[in-house]
Amino acid sequence: MSAAVREGWFGPFGGRFVAETLVPALEELERAYHEVVPSEAFQTEWRSWLASYVGRPTPLGRAERLRTHLPGVAHLLLKREDLNHTGAHKINNALGQVLLAKKMGKQRIIAETGAGQHGVATATACAVLGLPCEVYMGELDVARQAPNVARMRMLGARVVPVTSGSRTLKDAMNEAMRDWVTNVATTYYCVGSAAGPHPYPSLVRDLQRVIGDESRTQCLELLGRLPDAVVACVGGGSNAIGIFAAFLDDPSVALFGVEAAGHGIASGKHAATLTAGRVGVLHGSKSYVLCDDDGQIIEPHSISAGLDYPGVGPQHAALHDSGRATYLSATDDEALAAVRDVARKEGILIALETAHAFAALPRVADILRERGVREPAIVVSVSGRGDKDLSTLLEKLEVT
Ligand SMILES: *Cc1c(COP(=O)(O)O)cnc(C)c1O
Repeated sequence: MSAAVREGWFGPFGGRFVAETLVPALEELERAYHEVVPSEAFQTEWRSWLASYVGRPTPLGRAERLRTHLPGVAHLLLKREDLNHTGAHKINNALGQVLLAKKMGKQRIIAETGAGQHGVATATACAVLGLPCEVYMGELDVARQAPNVARMRMLGARVVPVTSGSRTLKDAMNEAMRDWVTNVATTYYCVGSAAGPHPYPSLVRDLQRVIGDESRTQCLELLGRLPDAVVACVGGGSNAIGIFAAFLDDPSVALFGVEAAGHGIASGKHAATLTAGRVGVLHGSKSYVLCDDDGQIIEPHSISAGLDYPGVGPQHAALHDSGRATYLSATDDEALAAVRDVARKEGILIALETAHAFAALPRVADILRERGVREPAIVVSVSGRGDKDLSTLLEKLEVT
């Protein structure tokens, strides 16, 4: 093996662990990733959609009332992905991939979804770009996520309930893969996070990097300097890698990813893959995964459906092992408390996923202090809004 960076690998992580039948499709996508995505025509069209349809650039705003509860922190800045059309960062990726599919001449989009957020983002992109959309979803999730199923159907997507296995996300992924293998000439598979076989982790990162690029420019405008830390929640890792990407080459900027500790790491009921998982292969790439001694995937748990995933994108695995990024975790209860706290101090109802990043802020401030960083400026990725979580919030929190 040469010392050159192997395409599709992040150190020992990533790669393409798929059935032989999918290799030509991934190679076709890889060519499009190299030739179409960087082209001026694609970039101009995609950025015009981001501006006129998604509502970008999203603001980078101060959170002064929250900041005063973080001793020593000089600036707390929120990157407001919750203000995007459809209420989260996922639309950046979905719109980019569906546009790419169109340029590749594909006639049909498939996706898989757990909580339904990626399904809604993909259905939205397909509606506005005029392509038919089929979303695979575990039967159990179809029942649990009725509002998002209704949204997808209103947007014209066909929701296909998957009845195999545990009838959740991983079964939906298997079914989407099966569809893709069968219909590869006409069909584009839109993956929802920075995970999966090469080139998806790189493609999704590049599409979400708009979050980091804007944050970097906005922070320089606002403070005249870079932030000392960037903090984001990590499910598959797309909003985190998107904001991290713009700061990877700035060693003074500390990067913090926050995973879901569910009922607590010791309980075994969590989704903290980097904190408590081991190296393995899941959904086509090598990364950290939650599995038992026999390599069987363990069902993860998180109160936030978007973080409830037993894997993590391979670039995060590499950033974890190299120490370039630090991964923390927050429990369900800590996330719930953070939703209420941010709502009452800043007037922003954040998503339960996003709340994990906020719950970790006191620890981030402590770590920065221990590292000798004085009066830090911290940027937090507000990955999405919490309207979708209202029924969970009302059930779990005593809101008076
Ligand atoms: C889906 C989702 C996440 C988790 O996905 P990543 O790929 O890790 O970013 C985080 N926040 C919100 C609001 C989501 O909808």
